Amino acid sequence: MTQTLHIVGGGMAGSEAAWQAAKQGVNVVIHEMRPKVGTFAHQTGNLAEMVCSNSFRSDDSEQNAVGLLHWEMRAADGLIMQTADKHRLPAGGALAVDRDPFAESVTAALTALPNVSVSGEEITELPTEGHWIIATGPLTSSALGAAIQAETGAERLAFFDAIAPIVYAESIDMDTAWMQSRYDKGETEEEQKAYLNCPMTKDQYEAFIDALLAAEKTEFHEGETAGYFDGCLPIEVMAERGRETLRHGPMKPVGLTNAHKPEEKAYAVVQLRRDNALGTLYNIVGFQTKMKYGAQTAVFKMIPGLENASFARLGGIHRNTFINSPTLLDDRMRLKSRPNIRFAGQVTGVEGYVESAAMGLLAGRMAAAEILGRDLPPPPAETAMGALITHITGGAEAKTFQPMNVNFGLFPPLDGVRGGRRGRKDRYKGYTDRAKELFSGWLAGQTAQG
Ligand SMILES: Cc1cc2nc3c(=O)[nH]c(=O)nc-3n(C[C@H](O)[C@H](O)[C@H](O)COP(=O)(O)OP(=O)(O)OC[C@H]3O[C@@H](n4cnc5c(N)ncnc54)[C@H](O)[C@@H]3O)c2cc1C
Repeated sequence: MTQTLHIVGGGMAGSEAAWQAAKQGVNVVIHEMRPKVGTFAHQTGNLAEMVCSNSFRSDDSEQNAVGLLHWEMRAADGLIMQTADKHRLPAGGALAVDRDPFAESVTAALTALPNVSVSGEEITELPTEGHWIIATGPLTSSALGAAIQAETGAERLAFFDAIAPIVYAESIDMDTAWMQSRYDKGETEEEQKAYLNCPMTKDQYEAFIDALLAAEKTEFHEGETAGYFDGCLPIEVMAERGRETLRHGPMKPVGLTNAHKPEEKAYAVVQLRRDNALGTLYNIVGFQTKMKYGAQTAVFKMIPGLENASFARLGGIHRNTFINSPTLLDDRMRLKSRPNIRFAGQVTGVEGYVESAAMGLLAGRMAAAEILGRDLPPPPAETAMGALITHITGGAEAKTFQPMNVNFGLFPPLDGVRGGRRGRKDRYKGYTDRAKELFSGWLAGQTAQG
């Protein structure tokens, strides 16, 4: 076996991909531009540097989807998780780590492997030959960004995310909300009822605007540019421009009739749109925001119908380079137009250290399998890794695709368990038990093959 796997970017995803492929006996070269070329967020030349928080979030593998992802990564001999465990700091149920020793250990573990080398240069073109994984993350260098854009088309590579909050469908009060597209537009009944509408009275609207204006906001990081604002304004900025702006924008009440109270004309309407093929998640249309997370939950629960909403993810706007994976990648994470190149990590449209490392784990294993003359299918969609890869490579709405954290809304529903808030504990346990069994089976299949 003489073929080499080249990995561009030695962050969370690239480091995990390198480890997984090298452990299968494949030669790996990591092309990492730091410290020669920096980014506005990274501080060191270490591999797997944590750019901001030092938390891998919940470590509860029974009741939390990211905790389940930890479990799966540990089961798959994941370097990021085993190193995080070694440098764990006390943080209640969360997995927090001592960031510098963590990154130093990942770097040492990889460079100690005889079949891994690190080459410190920026890659500026898409390679035409050989096996490659691009894992250059949210701060992909501009030259490589331009090369990706030239290959995929400008509209398929984003430089910012503008994330509207995503709500679990089951937590929306359908005695208040109703399904209807504006002016009943669409050929089929499904299209005519594509949106979920939450009506507001004048008093509710005024109180909502007051809360938006008063809410705590986060600032852009240094090096991020606010020029982006022209394309996609945060709702609180729209509210600052005038109390009526939202009522003439994303909250306009026109073309809609309240199915519960047809005689009442809403003063404003908040619309939600389906976010995944399963229909378990809805995003609040046009509600990208820089409000702090705590403020978002409080403000959005003022929307009639969302008083008891559970959020699969909250909104945000960040500098973030990511591709439109649902249209560009196949289910083996290969670029359809150039199958010698895989993408992994945050650049594929997942969000977070753990999710990025998990996508690196899959890309590393899949690339190694290919080099070794095997085919590795993705893990079942009922597992955390499988749910994520299924979402980004097909389950998500391509037109509105925005980065996604792992959450139970991405999992195929379980038969025979109670819905709603009350059934949540049993349901989550059901999801995680099912996932663990199927993930173990997926791993065992590879051992048998190898
Ligand atoms: C400001 C900021 C704050 C964040 N805070 C958090 C947080 O608190 N928690 C969280 O979970 N996630 C956070 N994220 C998201 C976080 O970056 C990702 O979760 C994670 O680091 C992504 O892993 P990755 O491997 O895809 O990318 P990265 O870890 O960023 O790794 C990509 C690597 O590619 C290198 N690279 C880029 N272009 C090239 C090139 N052309 N040639 C060679 N090398 C290149 C970079 O130097 C980098 O080392 C934040 C992101 C940003 C930008």
